[in-house]
Amino acid sequence: MGNGAKAASKRERNAKETKVAKSQLKVNEQAKDIQCNICKSTFLKTTRAPALTEHAANKHSKTLKECFPTFEEKK
Ligand SMILES: [Zn+2]
Repeated sequence: MGNGAKAASKRERNAKETKVAKSQLKVNEQAKDIQCNICKSTFLKTTRAPALTEHAANKHSKTLKECFPTFEEKK
């Protein structure tokens, strides 16, 4: 009898861990909210302008604004 209860609680714990892992994944996706207009690459929203400018120039020979029209640098 005791064994059955133990197995059930273990299953429950595993289910909980899976749920946490999934919500963490969602958070990670939300954090990536800068997207290149041209190649659709995504960048973390903490990415600084110089890195985006470099992507735009190196990958597309464009300016930051052409690749990331919605990007606003936080002053
Ligand atoms: Zn790009």
